[in-house]
Amino acid sequence: MSPRAGAQNLWSDADAKAAVERYAGQGVGEDLALRTYTARLLGRDPKLVLHGGGNTSVKTRQRDVFGEDVEVLCVKGSGWDLATIEPPGHPAVRLEPLRTLRRLNTLSDEDMVNAQRQCLLDSTAPNPSVETLLHAFMADKFVDHTHSTAILSIADQPDGARMFEEIFGEQVACVPYVMPGFDLAKAAGDAREANPASHGLVLLQHGLFTYGPSARESYERMIDCVAKAEAFIARKSSGWRATPIAAADSPAAHEVLPRLRGALHRAAGGRWPGRWILDLRSSPIARTVADDQRLADWAGRGVSTPDHVIRTKAGPLIAPRAEPGRLDDWAQAVDAALAGYAADYEAYFARNNARVGGGRTQLDPLPRVIAAPGLGLIGLGKTATDAAIAGDIAEIWAETLVDAEALGRFEPVGEADTFDMEYWSLEQAKLGKSADKRLARHVVAVTGGGGAIGAAIAKAFADEGAEVAVLDLDAEAAEAAARRCGHNALALQCDLTDAAAVDAAFARIAGRFGGLDIVVSNAGMALTGMVAEMPDAVLRKSFELNLFAHQTVAKAAAAIFRAQGMGGSLLFNASKQAINPGPDFGAYGTSKAALLALMRQYALELGPLGVRSNAINPDRIRSGLLTDEMIQSRSASRGVTADAYMSGNLLGQEVLAEDVAQAFVFASLMKKTTGAILPVDGGNVAAMVR
Ligand code: ZN
Repeated sequence: MSPRAGAQNLWSDADAKAAVERYAGQGVGEDLALRTYTARLLGRDPKLVLHGGGNTSVKTRQRDVFGEDVEVLCVKGSGWDLATIEPPGHPAVRLEPLRTLRRLNTLSDEDMVNAQRQCLLDSTAPNPSVETLLHAFMADKFVDHTHSTAILSIADQPDGARMFEEIFGEQVACVPYVMPGFDLAKAAGDAREANPASHGLVLLQHGLFTYGPSARESYERMIDCVAKAEAFIARKSSGWRATPIAAADSPAAHEVLPRLRGALHRAAGGRWPGRWILDLRSSPIARTVADDQRLADWAGRGVSTPDHVIRTKAGPLIAPRAEPGRLDDWAQAVDAALAGYAADYEAYFARNNARVGGGRTQLDPLPRVIAAPGLGLIGLGKTATDAAIAGDIAEIWAETLVDAEALGRFEPVGEADTFDMEYWSLEQAKLGKSADKRLARHVVAVTGGGGAIGAAIAKAFADEGAEVAVLDLDAEAAEAAARRCGHNALALQCDLTDAAAVDAAFARIAGRFGGLDIVVSNAGMALTGMVAEMPDAVLRKSFELNLFAHQTVAKAAAAIFRAQGMGGSLLFNASKQAINPGPDFGAYGTSKAALLALMRQYALELGPLGVRSNAINPDRIRSGLLTDEMIQSRSASRGVTADAYMSGNLLGQEVLAEDVAQAFVFASLMKKTTGAILPVDGGNVAAMVR
């Protein structure tokens, strides 16, 4: 059995009172305030609910447009997460018409969703949960629903109902598996009425509902039931042992993941989205399952609760075990494993689509979780957030599975029910409605990302949906820039003139996101002085950062691009000095001119790998290289105002860091352009490329 921190009763009178007072200030009544408070307590524990799973409700009264007090059900709205839910996350629906629906014999999912929306007091509110009718058909004031891992370890047993009887007696009733919707709501409502003394209902192979007259009772019954289930598992499951496959050490994640990412790209074959963000979990539970001799058996059993299928598919791909020094052979074996997974998935779709009479649209046949022996469980997603959700659910699946196997046999809901959830008409209706951002699924590294221009570049790529790594010598500046790019952005302190440090930073990036697609090699330094009188050391220092550091970065990136085999983009921040020298800027201009030659060499050498190499030539941008004092002294020496100096170009407009950032974004999107130099200087004839 896996070690677990047991379910904790987090109720606090003081916190509850504070929530009531806080929400009262927003015009929210006590019932909904307490509903919000305990919903958040449930949402805080990943062993109860994960990523939008679970739902909660309260029956209360609210005033409608006529000023009449009407009985409403405030029930979790779609798109809200219990961990962070606020009062608007439980939209109010008129209760009486919902109760009346119970008289019907059948109700399609579409009609149910429509009927629920018609009952909303606020027409702009999100869709009420698909389990709204279940909440409505129970008379209890507060109703709480979770997918607790401990409950699922028992609910996913062949004789789960008998075990629950042993644990709970009359306190909890069991409802056999029915897919969420009208039929389940009726079955649960009936079971509730047939068991008037009960505190909760277990939906077999799905999860647990508890209820009560107060928020506190309903919540504490949930915690009590889960704690009893945990104690039962602890008592009955002492004999379970992991049986790891004995093997030599595995190669490091940063070597394995880019090759895995490349294999996914090949498997997609241009027909399906081919670029994925990877999130490796090497926690003890992830390793326990991924390394066990029984993995192949377990991987075919299914998801622990059906709505996880949307995030993880029915089971993980099992990757072959990677051996150090034989990674190319391994990548070929992954290709074969992926082809097998996709063929199985297509057969599963065809079989079940025929069973339901056809008409479903097949989803891509690629996995969302990969079990990699020697490494752990890997979540896949079109963003780092989605990959993390798949990874979290994979770890919870592993926990549920191990506890269930320790207790008896993990036997979750079967193929047909899993398919019905994955291809639910309500899920199918969402297909194609949300377009990816232009650089979603891409990983970009920005060097000198802590400076004014670098930070603007990092932000521009993040805004286009890319996952961002910010490298800077200044750790705090890197962190500040990364924070502006969202919570998944990676900040890396790195001295770019230290090759080992650069390699380590790129290993971190590949280990974190699974690979790399774009590098903006931006860091630079302007040392001034007449070149004829310049000490060699100054010139060499300039070349260290303005040429050799770019080479070190490009080399590290090229190694990842090569391992992935899915192209790539090298973007260098050169300078107009590389083409149009200015007095006293010899050290800068010569090193930047060499950088342009380096850019072209990479275009030549890596073109056959689909890697593009381009340079941007910005000029006169306010930044660490052109400070306000420098602007003052230069404009004064030319006898013009600072503004006139900054807008002294053909367009007559100052060029901003954001303009440079947009040029890098566009250059990354120009799929058939390599070896090019793009000026971003507002127009300067002397700096035009010829
Ligand atoms: Zn559920």
